[in-house]
Amino acid sequence: MATHPNHARSPLILDVSRLGRRPGSMQTIRQTVPSPGRIGLDLIAIEPGTDLDLDLRLESVSEGVLVSGTVQAPTRGECSRCLGPVTGDVEIALTELYAYPDSLTESTTADDEVGHVVDQTVDLEQPILDAVGLALPFAPLCAPDCPGLCPRCGVALATAGADHRHEEIDPRWAKLSALLPPDTEGGSPS
Ligand SMILES: [Zn+2]
Ligand SMILES: [Zn+2]
Repeated sequence: MATHPNHARSPLILDVSRLGRRPGSMQTIRQTVPSPGRIGLDLIAIEPGTDLDLDLRLESVSEGVLVSGTVQAPTRGECSRCLGPVTGDVEIALTELYAYPDSLTESTTADDEVGHVVDQTVDLEQPILDAVGLALPFAPLCAPDCPGLCPRCGVALATAGADHRHEEIDPRWAKLSALLPPDTEGGSPS
């Protein structure tokens, strides 16, 4: 019996040989594996090597293997307003059917619409990439009310303090701030 060299295989490729292609047989997987790569979006992602908590059920159905459950992992990123560090967690739910070779689903479904059982394994990487991409925010924030950066000097206003201001006020800015009070008349000042 051949043994898989674990170090050469993605931890997201799961052996389903124990299910034995018997509809109704089931296997649960609760384990923590290192992320094989960066999973996420430009500004926020699960970093490579981060612990992925898998809580999955593998179930043999007539057409293939149904994988369902959750994957949870810590995320790291950059605040889209102040560029400060953002840390968090992401949890995604999976429900994926992997068709057995020679099953009706296998022969009637386009390759990219359904996963496939290959050499008695299923590969969770693509569904996890897709789901995490949908779950993470495109514009992550370090705090919901992050004030961003000072438009004049670029310092992060959250750490600079409420009294952060600049001494030399450009006369055009002074004029603009004079327009800020809310008693607007609708006309444009000249
Ligand atoms: Zn921020
Ligand atoms: Zn400033």
